[in-house]
Amino acid sequence: MIVTRFAPSPTGFLHIGGARTALFCYLYTRHMGGKYLLRVEDTDQERSTSAAIDAIKEGLAWMGLTPDGEPVFQSHRFARHVEVAQQLLQAGKAYKCYCSKEELDNMREAQRQAQIKPRYDGRCRQRQEQPDLPFVIRFHTPAEGEVVWDDQIQGTIRIQNKELDDLILVRSDGVPTYNLAVVADDHDMGITHVIRGEDHISNTPRQIHLFRALGWPVPEYAHMPLLHGTDGAKLSKRHGAVSVLQYREDGFLAEAVNNYLVRLGWSHGEQEVFTMEEMIQHFDVKDVGRSAAIFNQSKLLWLNNQHMKSLPVERVAAELLYQLRRLEVVQEVEETLLHALVLGYRERTRTLLEMATMVSHFFRESAEPYEEAAANKHFKGEIAPAFGQLVAGLQGVEDWQAASIEAVFRQVLAESGLAMVKLAQPVRVALTGRDISPGIFEVLYWLGKDRSLLRLQRGLEIIQQKAALLANS
Ligand code: GLU
Repeated sequence: MIVTRFAPSPTGFLHIGGARTALFCYLYTRHMGGKYLLRVEDTDQERSTSAAIDAIKEGLAWMGLTPDGEPVFQSHRFARHVEVAQQLLQAGKAYKCYCSKEELDNMREAQRQAQIKPRYDGRCRQRQEQPDLPFVIRFHTPAEGEVVWDDQIQGTIRIQNKELDDLILVRSDGVPTYNLAVVADDHDMGITHVIRGEDHISNTPRQIHLFRALGWPVPEYAHMPLLHGTDGAKLSKRHGAVSVLQYREDGFLAEAVNNYLVRLGWSHGEQEVFTMEEMIQHFDVKDVGRSAAIFNQSKLLWLNNQHMKSLPVERVAAELLYQLRRLEVVQEVEETLLHALVLGYRERTRTLLEMATMVSHFFRESAEPYEEAAANKHFKGEIAPAFGQLVAGLQGVEDWQAASIEAVFRQVLAESGLAMVKLAQPVRVALTGRDISPGIFEVLYWLGKDRSLLRLQRGLEIIQQKAALLANS
């Protein structure tokens, strides 16, 4: 059985790079069958906050990447980490180092002068017990040989042992260090595959040494290429490396964000749009590429629109309602209207935020303020007679059904000789404030007779004012 873990350090929100690591762990586990666990690496007690832990869990939940089982908190496992260090000490694979800071500084200075790479020279390996002196516990790294592993993404990686220091396992204040904690936790959690960012490659040879020294099976490793912005630099806040939850606020669907992230470094033929089921079906960590993945906002927008169009209307409607509530446009919307709005607008918008903004006039008293360019373009004096005729005709419609509404339009068009768009565009602006909307009969139907006529009257007033200006000029 495959067991993966996502192991964030809770010093901030779940950003897009972390979410991608979590997604790859999740997909690989679901594809192979197994468990996907969360380990909160909160050993840096000063920088880790419970707000960050909540934000990470919330981010994962929104992405649909909720881990299997309860999270493991690294900070709760100090005693176990120290126990593992003691085990290495007793087996002679680790030793107490009594070097003072001054002694270490002198050692490094001497190395610098001799032009050799500064590193701990292992001088305490043979030292007698010094019961009165403070000490750190160091791992006894083999002097010769190399560490080799077949990275599932990067290929074979070899590191010479002489490149590695005698790693500190427990500091002089008794606190275990990062690499020791990771190895003990990965072992105790039964992790079979460590999927993480390539910034951790330098830790891997040290961790493999520890696994071997403890007689534990070494997991498979897969180091993912890091995300970069379009300018080639490592992804940072400047590129929009914000919390994944910000993407929700900005009107993105989790389905689109996951789809977008999976394609950063992984592909399946020419396919671009994937459902979660398809990703699970095809994903294999071995197929992830090695080159840096570039984060590109316009592709994310395109994918978001694809998912808005292909997902069940209920799913998109739920996110639209989320936006409408968040923007304080309206708290409750009748389901049929909400669905009609999604169906009417999803071809025309790329995010749910855009959609919510465009439909918000439905829930307001008036369509004003109009989009300036749209009003200038379509509210023309010339249209006043036909527009006036339309308003009068619509007043007479009793049943307010699309067919009866359309009949009035047809009649006005026939009498005035105007093309449909000439009349429909100013009507659209008067009704919705913009010149982009679903079918005009549908909009009239959804607004209802009273509100439609109020808005049309107001539009007519403006058009008539323009006509009067025309007449005087
Ligand atoms: N806590 C580490 C990080 O957030 C991950 C360590 C690991 O995956 O082994 O970068």
